[in-house]
Amino acid sequence: MLGGLGEKLRNAIRNFAGKSSINKAELDTLIKELQRVLISSDVKVSLVSQLSKKIRSKGLEQKPLPGLTVKEHILRVVYDELVALVGEGTEIPTKKGVKILLLGLYGSGKTTTASKLGYWLKKRGISPTLVSLDRDRPAAYDQLKQLGKKIGLLAQKETTKGPMIIDTAGRDALSDFMLSDAKKILKKEKPDHVFLVVPAEMGHQAGKQAKAFGDMLTGVIITRMDGSAKGGGALSACAEAKVHIAFIGTGERVDDLELFDPKRYVSRLLGWGDIKGLIEKAKEIQTEVGPIGLADLKNLNMLTFYKQMEALTKMGPFEKVLQMVGLTDLDKKTVGNMKTKLKRYKVIIDSMTKEERLNPDLISSSRLERIARGSGTKLGDVRELMKEFNMMKKMVKGMASGKLKKSMRKGMNLKALKGMKFR
Ligand code: GDP
Ligand code: MG
Repeated sequence: MLGGLGEKLRNAIRNFAGKSSINKAELDTLIKELQRVLISSDVKVSLVSQLSKKIRSKGLEQKPLPGLTVKEHILRVVYDELVALVGEGTEIPTKKGVKILLLGLYGSGKTTTASKLGYWLKKRGISPTLVSLDRDRPAAYDQLKQLGKKIGLLAQKETTKGPMIIDTAGRDALSDFMLSDAKKILKKEKPDHVFLVVPAEMGHQAGKQAKAFGDMLTGVIITRMDGSAKGGGALSACAEAKVHIAFIGTGERVDDLELFDPKRYVSRLLGWGDIKGLIEKAKEIQTEVGPIGLADLKNLNMLTFYKQMEALTKMGPFEKVLQMVGLTDLDKKTVGNMKTKLKRYKVIIDSMTKEERLNPDLISSSRLERIARGSGTKLGDVRELMKEFNMMKKMVKGMASGKLKKSMRKGMNLKALKGMKFR
Protein backbone atom coordinates (compact mmCIF):
# COMPACT_ATOMS: atom_id res chain seq x y z
CA MET A 1 0.00 0.00 0.00
CA LEU A 2 2.92 2.35 0.52
CA GLY A 3 4.69 1.51 -2.67
CA GLY A 4 6.78 -1.15 -1.01
CA LEU A 5 8.41 1.41 1.24
CA GLY A 6 7.10 -0.22 4.37
CA GLU A 7 8.20 -3.64 3.31
CA LYS A 8 11.73 -2.47 2.57
CA LEU A 9 11.93 -0.63 5.87
CA ARG A 10 10.69 -3.63 7.76
CA ASN A 11 13.30 -5.82 6.07
CA ALA A 12 16.07 -3.44 7.02
CA ILE A 13 14.88 -3.40 10.61
CA ARG A 14 14.42 -7.13 10.74
CA ASN A 15 17.95 -7.75 9.50
CA PHE A 16 19.27 -5.47 12.18
CA ALA A 17 17.11 -6.89 14.92
CA GLY A 18 18.23 -10.39 14.07
CA LYS A 19 21.86 -9.63 14.85
CA SER A 20 23.07 -11.19 18.06
CA SER A 21 25.27 -8.32 19.08
CA ILE A 22 25.38 -4.76 17.91
CA ASN A 23 28.51 -2.93 16.93
CA LYS A 24 29.32 0.03 14.76
CA ALA A 25 29.39 -2.06 11.60
CA GLU A 26 25.87 -3.37 12.22
CA LEU A 27 24.62 0.13 12.76
CA ASP A 28 26.28 1.29 9.56
CA THR A 29 24.61 -1.50 7.63
CA LEU A 30 21.24 -0.53 9.04
CA ILE A 31 21.83 3.10 8.13
CA LYS A 32 22.88 2.19 4.60
CA GLU A 33 19.74 0.17 4.11
CA LEU A 34 17.59 2.97 5.47
CA GLN A 35 19.28 5.39 3.09
CA ARG A 36 18.55 3.18 0.13
CA VAL A 37 14.90 2.85 1.07
CA LEU A 38 14.39 6.55 1.71
CA ILE A 39 16.11 7.69 -1.45
CA SER A 40 14.02 5.29 -3.49
CA SER A 41 11.00 6.93 -1.91
CA ASP A 42 12.23 10.28 -3.25
CA VAL A 43 13.28 11.70 0.09
CA LYS A 44 15.82 14.45 -0.58
CA VAL A 45 19.43 13.37 -0.28
CA SER A 46 20.19 16.18 2.14
CA LEU A 47 17.42 15.01 4.47
CA VAL A 48 18.57 11.41 4.22
CA SER A 49 22.08 12.38 5.16
CA GLN A 50 20.89 14.47 8.10
CA LEU A 51 18.83 11.55 9.32
CA SER A 52 21.76 9.17 8.97
CA LYS A 53 24.01 11.43 10.98
CA LYS A 54 21.46 11.72 13.76
CA ILE A 55 20.83 8.01 13.95
CA ARG A 56 24.54 7.34 14.02
CA SER A 57 25.33 9.83 16.76
CA LYS A 58 22.28 9.21 18.94
CA GLY A 59 22.46 5.48 18.39
CA LEU A 60 26.03 5.27 19.55
CA GLU A 61 26.33 8.09 22.02
CA GLN A 62 23.04 8.38 23.83
CA LYS A 63 22.49 6.23 26.83
CA PRO A 64 19.64 3.79 26.32
CA LEU A 65 16.53 4.54 28.35
CA PRO A 66 15.89 2.34 31.35
CA GLY A 67 14.70 -1.04 30.24
CA LEU A 68 16.09 -0.80 26.73
CA THR A 69 19.06 -2.69 25.37
CA VAL A 70 21.42 -1.02 22.90
CA LYS A 71 19.62 -2.71 20.04
CA GLU A 72 16.22 -1.58 21.24
CA HIS A 73 17.61 1.87 21.85
CA ILE A 74 18.82 2.13 18.26
CA LEU A 75 15.46 0.94 16.94
CA ARG A 76 13.81 3.61 19.01
CA VAL A 77 16.14 6.26 17.66
CA VAL A 78 15.31 5.11 14.12
CA TYR A 79 11.63 5.35 14.92
CA ASP A 80 11.98 8.81 16.45
CA GLU A 81 14.01 10.12 13.54
CA LEU A 82 11.59 8.76 10.95
CA VAL A 83 8.76 10.42 12.82
CA ALA A 84 10.67 13.69 12.78
CA LEU A 85 11.39 13.23 9.08
CA VAL A 86 7.77 12.92 8.01
CA GLY A 87 6.85 15.97 9.99
CA GLU A 88 4.06 17.19 12.07
CA GLY A 89 0.39 16.56 11.90
CA THR A 90 -2.05 19.30 12.64
CA GLU A 91 -5.11 19.82 14.76
CA ILE A 92 -8.32 19.99 12.81
CA PRO A 93 -10.83 21.89 14.89
CA THR A 94 -14.13 20.44 13.93
CA LYS A 95 -16.09 23.49 14.85
CA LYS A 96 -19.64 23.75 13.69
CA GLY A 97 -19.29 26.36 10.98
CA VAL A 98 -15.91 25.18 9.76
CA LYS A 99 -14.93 26.49 6.36
CA ILE A 100 -12.31 24.60 4.41
CA LEU A 101 -10.75 25.67 1.13
CA LEU A 102 -8.93 23.25 -1.15
CA LEU A 103 -6.25 24.39 -3.59
CA GLY A 104 -4.09 22.46 -6.00
CA LEU A 105 -3.18 21.62 -9.57
CA TYR A 106 -5.45 19.79 -11.99
CA GLY A 107 -5.83 16.16 -11.16
CA SER A 108 -4.22 16.43 -7.76
CA GLY A 109 -7.33 15.01 -6.13
CA LYS A 110 -9.15 18.12 -4.88
CA THR A 111 -12.67 17.14 -5.83
CA THR A 112 -12.29 13.61 -4.53
CA THR A 113 -10.74 14.97 -1.36
CA ALA A 114 -13.60 17.47 -0.94
CA SER A 115 -16.04 14.60 -0.71
CA LYS A 116 -13.75 12.56 1.52
CA LEU A 117 -13.37 15.48 3.88
CA GLY A 118 -17.11 16.03 3.81
CA TYR A 119 -17.60 12.45 4.84
CA TRP A 120 -14.94 12.75 7.51
CA LEU A 121 -16.69 15.77 9.01
CA LYS A 122 -20.08 14.13 8.71
CA LYS A 123 -18.87 11.25 10.82
CA ARG A 124 -17.98 13.89 13.41
CA GLY A 125 -21.42 15.40 13.40
CA ILE A 126 -20.89 18.23 10.96
CA SER A 127 -22.57 18.17 7.56
CA PRO A 128 -20.78 20.62 5.30
CA THR A 129 -22.03 21.88 1.98
CA LEU A 130 -19.70 21.00 -0.87
CA VAL A 131 -19.09 24.11 -2.92
CA SER A 132 -17.61 23.99 -6.39
CA LEU A 133 -15.85 27.15 -7.46
CA ASP A 134 -14.46 25.32 -10.48
CA ARG A 135 -16.33 27.38 -13.03
CA ASP A 136 -13.97 26.58 -15.88
CA ARG A 137 -15.29 23.10 -16.21
CA PRO A 138 -19.00 22.39 -15.77
CA ALA A 139 -18.19 18.72 -15.29
CA ALA A 140 -16.35 19.64 -12.12
CA TYR A 141 -19.57 20.61 -10.38
CA ASP A 142 -21.34 17.47 -11.59
CA GLN A 143 -18.52 15.36 -10.23
CA LEU A 144 -18.79 17.01 -6.83
CA LYS A 145 -22.56 16.71 -6.84
CA GLN A 146 -22.41 13.01 -7.57
CA LEU A 147 -19.80 12.38 -4.94
CA GLY A 148 -21.86 14.40 -2.45
CA LYS A 149 -24.99 12.45 -3.23
CA LYS A 150 -23.30 9.20 -2.26
CA ILE A 151 -22.61 10.51 1.20
CA GLY A 152 -25.72 12.61 1.62
CA LEU A 153 -24.11 16.02 1.30
CA LEU A 154 -25.42 18.90 -0.69
CA ALA A 155 -23.30 20.37 -3.48
CA GLN A 156 -23.69 23.82 -4.94
CA LYS A 157 -21.88 26.43 -6.96
CA GLU A 158 -22.09 29.31 -4.54
CA THR A 159 -20.69 29.68 -1.10
CA THR A 160 -23.24 29.75 1.67
CA LYS A 161 -23.54 30.02 5.44
CA GLY A 162 -22.58 27.18 7.72
CA PRO A 163 -19.91 24.52 7.32
CA MET A 164 -18.44 24.29 3.86
CA ILE A 165 -15.77 22.61 1.85
CA ILE A 166 -14.78 24.70 -1.12
CA ASP A 167 -13.37 22.95 -4.17
CA THR A 168 -11.52 25.20 -6.57
CA ALA A 169 -10.40 25.10 -10.18
CA GLY A 170 -6.92 23.74 -10.67
CA ARG A 171 -4.22 24.85 -13.05
CA ASP A 172 -1.81 22.89 -15.19
CA ALA A 173 1.15 24.34 -13.45
CA LEU A 174 1.94 26.49 -10.52
CA SER A 175 1.92 30.11 -11.68
CA ASP A 176 1.69 33.61 -10.29
CA PHE A 177 -1.76 33.64 -11.74
CA MET A 178 -2.79 30.64 -9.71
CA LEU A 179 -1.33 32.16 -6.56
CA SER A 180 -3.06 35.50 -6.98
CA ASP A 181 -6.30 33.73 -7.78
CA ALA A 182 -5.99 31.76 -4.59
CA LYS A 183 -5.30 34.95 -2.65
CA LYS A 184 -8.47 36.51 -4.00
CA ILE A 185 -10.60 33.55 -2.95
CA LEU A 186 -9.00 33.59 0.47
CA LYS A 187 -9.70 37.24 0.94
CA LYS A 188 -13.32 36.83 -0.01
CA GLU A 189 -14.15 33.59 1.79
CA LYS A 190 -11.88 33.81 4.84
CA PRO A 191 -11.72 30.04 5.35
CA ASP A 192 -10.61 28.48 8.63
CA HIS A 193 -8.42 26.04 6.77
CA VAL A 194 -6.65 26.28 3.48
CA PHE A 195 -5.28 22.98 2.33
CA LEU A 196 -3.06 22.46 -0.65
CA VAL A 197 -3.85 19.13 -2.24
CA VAL A 198 -0.78 17.42 -3.67
CA PRO A 199 -0.45 13.93 -5.05
CA ALA A 200 2.18 11.65 -3.52
CA GLU A 201 3.81 11.02 -6.88
CA MET A 202 5.00 14.58 -6.82
CA GLY A 203 7.63 13.31 -4.40
CA HIS A 204 9.88 15.91 -2.85
CA GLN A 205 8.66 18.52 -5.35
CA ALA A 206 5.58 18.74 -3.13
CA GLY A 207 7.70 20.83 -0.78
CA LYS A 208 8.32 23.46 -3.45
CA GLN A 209 4.63 23.82 -4.17
CA ALA A 210 3.78 24.12 -0.53
CA LYS A 211 6.47 26.75 -0.11
CA ALA A 212 5.11 28.77 -3.02
CA PHE A 213 1.76 29.14 -1.28
CA GLY A 214 3.54 30.13 1.90
CA ASP A 215 1.39 31.68 4.61
CA MET A 216 -1.77 31.09 2.68
CA LEU A 217 -1.82 27.46 3.71
CA THR A 218 -2.82 25.99 7.02
CA GLY A 219 -1.69 22.60 5.75
CA VAL A 220 -1.36 20.12 2.93
CA ILE A 221 -3.26 17.01 2.02
CA ILE A 222 -1.22 14.38 0.24
CA THR A 223 -3.34 12.17 -1.98
CA ARG A 224 -2.68 8.84 -3.64
CA MET A 225 -0.35 7.70 -0.88
CA ASP A 226 -1.63 4.25 -1.79
CA GLY A 227 -0.40 4.31 -5.33
CA SER A 228 2.94 6.03 -5.27
CA ALA A 229 6.38 4.99 -4.16
CA LYS A 230 7.28 8.61 -3.59
CA GLY A 231 5.08 9.29 -0.60
CA GLY A 232 8.07 9.49 1.70
CA GLY A 233 9.53 12.25 -0.43
CA ALA A 234 6.30 14.22 -0.45
CA LEU A 235 5.85 13.96 3.31
CA SER A 236 9.43 14.78 4.22
CA ALA A 237 9.64 17.73 1.82
CA CYS A 238 6.45 19.27 3.23
CA ALA A 239 7.82 18.72 6.71
CA GLU A 240 11.06 20.40 5.71
CA ALA A 241 9.07 23.32 4.30
CA LYS A 242 7.43 23.52 7.74
CA VAL A 243 3.99 22.95 6.33
CA HIS A 244 1.71 20.81 8.39
CA ILE A 245 0.41 17.66 6.83
CA ALA A 246 -3.25 17.57 7.67
CA PHE A 247 -4.54 14.47 5.92
CA ILE A 248 -3.36 11.75 3.63
CA GLY A 249 -5.46 10.12 0.95
CA THR A 250 -4.99 6.40 0.82
CA GLY A 251 -7.39 5.21 -1.86
CA GLU A 252 -10.25 6.09 -4.13
CA ARG A 253 -13.04 5.33 -1.72
CA VAL A 254 -14.73 8.05 0.25
CA ASP A 255 -13.36 6.81 3.53
CA ASP A 256 -9.81 6.53 2.29
CA LEU A 257 -8.72 9.67 4.05
CA GLU A 258 -6.94 9.84 7.34
CA LEU A 259 -5.87 12.54 9.65
CA PHE A 260 -2.11 12.53 9.47
CA ASP A 261 -0.43 11.34 12.62
CA PRO A 262 3.34 10.98 12.09
CA LYS A 263 3.77 8.50 14.90
CA ARG A 264 0.97 6.31 13.79
CA TYR A 265 2.12 6.54 10.23
CA VAL A 266 5.69 5.50 10.96
CA SER A 267 4.56 2.75 13.32
CA ARG A 268 2.47 1.32 10.58
CA LEU A 269 5.21 1.74 8.05
CA LEU A 270 7.51 -0.24 10.26
CA GLY A 271 4.80 -2.75 10.91
CA TRP A 272 4.85 -2.02 14.57
CA GLY A 273 1.19 -1.60 15.26
CA ASP A 274 1.99 -1.25 18.88
CA ILE A 275 5.03 0.90 18.74
CA LYS A 276 3.18 3.97 19.83
CA GLY A 277 2.01 2.04 22.82
CA LEU A 278 5.52 0.81 23.23
CA ILE A 279 7.05 4.24 23.33
CA GLU A 280 4.45 5.48 25.78
CA LYS A 281 4.71 2.41 27.92
CA ALA A 282 8.47 2.67 28.02
CA LYS A 283 8.05 6.20 29.33
CA GLU A 284 5.40 5.18 31.80
CA ILE A 285 7.46 2.37 33.16
CA GLN A 286 10.40 4.64 33.43
CA THR A 287 8.47 6.92 35.72
CA GLU A 288 6.87 4.02 37.49
CA VAL A 289 10.09 2.23 38.13
CA GLY A 290 11.63 5.55 38.97
CA PRO A 291 9.79 6.14 42.23
CA ILE A 292 10.41 2.58 43.35
CA GLY A 293 14.00 3.57 43.07
CA LEU A 294 17.17 2.20 44.47
CA ALA A 295 16.34 2.70 48.10
CA ASP A 296 13.05 0.89 47.77
CA LEU A 297 14.54 -2.05 46.02
CA LYS A 298 17.27 -2.40 48.56
CA ASN A 299 14.46 -2.57 51.02
CA LEU A 300 12.26 -4.84 48.95
CA ASN A 301 8.89 -5.58 50.48
CA MET A 302 5.58 -6.92 49.23
CA LEU A 303 4.46 -3.54 47.97
CA THR A 304 7.57 -2.77 45.98
CA PHE A 305 7.61 -6.35 44.78
CA TYR A 306 4.08 -6.02 43.52
CA LYS A 307 4.76 -2.71 41.86
CA GLN A 308 7.77 -4.13 40.11
CA MET A 309 5.81 -7.12 38.90
CA GLU A 310 3.05 -4.88 37.70
CA ALA A 311 5.49 -2.76 35.72
CA LEU A 312 6.77 -5.89 34.07
CA THR A 313 3.40 -7.10 32.89
CA LYS A 314 2.69 -3.68 31.51
CA MET A 315 5.43 -4.31 29.06
CA GLY A 316 2.98 -6.53 27.19
CA PRO A 317 2.68 -4.59 23.96
CA PHE A 318 6.35 -3.75 24.06
CA GLU A 319 7.25 -7.37 24.31
CA LYS A 320 4.95 -8.19 21.46
CA VAL A 321 6.74 -5.72 19.29
CA LEU A 322 10.15 -6.95 20.25
CA GLN A 323 9.00 -10.41 19.51
CA MET A 324 7.87 -9.39 16.07
CA VAL A 325 11.28 -8.12 15.22
CA GLY A 326 12.86 -11.17 16.72
CA LEU A 327 14.30 -9.65 19.85
CA THR A 328 12.67 -11.91 22.34
CA ASP A 329 10.88 -15.17 22.46
CA LEU A 330 8.55 -14.29 25.27
CA ASP A 331 5.12 -15.04 23.94
CA LYS A 332 1.72 -13.56 24.52
CA LYS A 333 0.69 -16.53 26.57
CA THR A 334 3.53 -16.02 28.99
CA VAL A 335 2.64 -12.39 29.47
CA GLY A 336 -1.02 -13.38 29.81
CA ASN A 337 -0.11 -15.93 32.45
CA MET A 338 1.91 -13.35 34.28
CA LYS A 339 -1.09 -11.07 34.38
CA THR A 340 -3.32 -13.79 35.77
CA LYS A 341 -0.73 -14.56 38.36
CA LEU A 342 -0.40 -10.92 39.22
CA LYS A 343 -4.11 -10.68 39.96
CA ARG A 344 -3.80 -13.60 42.31
CA TYR A 345 -0.78 -12.03 43.97
CA LYS A 346 -2.72 -8.86 44.55
CA VAL A 347 -5.45 -10.73 46.38
CA ILE A 348 -2.86 -12.52 48.46
CA ILE A 349 -0.93 -9.36 49.31
CA ASP A 350 -4.21 -7.66 50.22
CA SER A 351 -4.77 -10.37 52.81
CA MET A 352 -1.50 -9.65 54.53
CA THR A 353 -1.27 -7.30 57.45
CA LYS A 354 0.49 -4.01 56.94
CA GLU A 355 3.46 -5.28 58.95
CA GLU A 356 3.71 -8.39 56.83
CA ARG A 357 3.64 -6.39 53.66
CA LEU A 358 6.44 -4.15 54.78
CA ASN A 359 8.45 -6.89 56.41
CA PRO A 360 7.74 -10.19 54.67
CA ASP A 361 10.27 -11.96 56.90
CA LEU A 362 7.50 -12.01 59.50
CA ILE A 363 5.50 -14.42 57.39
CA SER A 364 5.88 -17.76 59.12
CA SER A 365 4.25 -20.97 57.94
CA SER A 366 1.26 -20.48 60.23
CA ARG A 367 0.76 -17.04 58.75
CA LEU A 368 0.95 -18.54 55.27
CA GLU A 369 -2.12 -20.61 56.03
CA ARG A 370 -4.01 -17.64 57.41
CA ILE A 371 -3.17 -15.58 54.34
CA ALA A 372 -4.28 -18.37 52.00
CA ARG A 373 -7.58 -18.71 53.87
CA GLY A 374 -8.12 -14.99 53.99
CA SER A 375 -7.48 -14.52 50.32
CA GLY A 376 -9.36 -17.59 49.21
CA THR A 377 -6.29 -18.97 47.48
CA LYS A 378 -4.39 -22.19 47.91
CA LEU A 379 -1.49 -22.53 50.28
CA GLY A 380 0.60 -23.42 47.24
CA ASP A 381 -0.24 -20.05 45.69
CA VAL A 382 0.97 -18.17 48.72
CA ARG A 383 4.12 -20.27 48.84
CA GLU A 384 4.74 -19.54 45.20
CA LEU A 385 4.44 -15.84 45.84
CA MET A 386 6.85 -16.06 48.74
CA LYS A 387 9.29 -18.04 46.67
CA GLU A 388 9.25 -15.51 43.87
CA PHE A 389 9.51 -12.67 46.31
CA ASN A 390 12.57 -14.25 47.86
CA MET A 391 14.09 -14.81 44.46
CA MET A 392 13.65 -11.20 43.55
CA LYS A 393 15.13 -10.21 46.87
CA LYS A 394 18.14 -12.39 46.24
CA MET A 395 18.55 -10.92 42.82
CA VAL A 396 18.35 -7.42 44.18
CA LYS A 397 20.94 -8.25 46.82
CA GLY A 398 23.19 -9.58 44.11
CA MET A 399 22.81 -6.39 42.22
CA ALA A 400 23.42 -4.33 45.30
CA SER A 401 27.05 -5.26 45.24
CA GLY A 402 27.97 -2.22 43.21
CA LYS A 403 26.08 -3.27 40.13
CA LEU A 404 22.70 -2.19 41.37
CA LYS A 405 22.76 1.16 39.71
CA LYS A 406 23.54 -0.27 36.33
CA SER A 407 20.92 -2.96 36.63
CA MET A 408 18.35 -0.41 37.59
CA ARG A 409 19.17 1.66 34.60
CA LYS A 410 18.51 -1.35 32.46
CA GLY A 411 15.38 -2.03 34.42
CA MET A 412 14.54 -5.39 35.82
CA ASN A 413 13.89 -6.74 32.43
CA LEU A 414 11.94 -9.73 31.41
CA LYS A 415 14.98 -11.88 31.16
CA ALA A 416 15.32 -11.62 34.88
CA LEU A 417 11.71 -12.53 35.18
CA LYS A 418 12.20 -15.53 32.97
CA GLY A 419 14.98 -16.62 35.24
CA MET A 420 12.34 -16.63 37.95
CA LYS A 421 10.49 -19.35 36.11
CA PHE A 422 7.14 -17.68 35.68
CA ARG A 423 4.85 -20.07 34.01
P1 GDP B 1 -8.89 17.33 -9.09
O1 GDP B 1 -8.70 17.60 -10.53
O2 GDP B 1 -7.81 17.95 -8.27
O3 GDP B 1 -10.23 17.69 -8.59
O4 GDP B 1 -8.70 15.73 -8.91
P2 GDP B 1 -9.83 14.63 -8.71
O5 GDP B 1 -10.43 14.73 -7.38
O6 GDP B 1 -10.74 14.64 -9.85
O7 GDP B 1 -8.94 13.31 -8.70
C1 GDP B 1 -8.11 12.90 -9.77
C2 GDP B 1 -7.97 11.38 -9.70
O8 GDP B 1 -7.26 10.99 -8.53
C3 GDP B 1 -9.30 10.64 -9.61
O9 GDP B 1 -9.26 9.53 -10.49
C4 GDP B 1 -9.39 10.18 -8.17
O10 GDP B 1 -10.13 9.00 -8.03
C5 GDP B 1 -7.94 9.96 -7.85
N1 GDP B 1 -7.64 10.06 -6.42
C6 GDP B 1 -7.80 11.10 -5.59
N2 GDP B 1 -7.34 10.81 -4.35
C7 GDP B 1 -6.87 9.55 -4.40
C8 GDP B 1 -6.23 8.69 -3.45
O11 GDP B 1 -5.99 9.02 -2.28
N3 GDP B 1 -5.87 7.45 -3.89
C9 GDP B 1 -6.10 7.05 -5.19
N4 GDP B 1 -5.70 5.82 -5.52
N5 GDP B 1 -6.67 7.84 -6.09
C10 GDP B 1 -7.07 9.08 -5.71
MG1 MG C 1 -11.71 18.78 -9.52
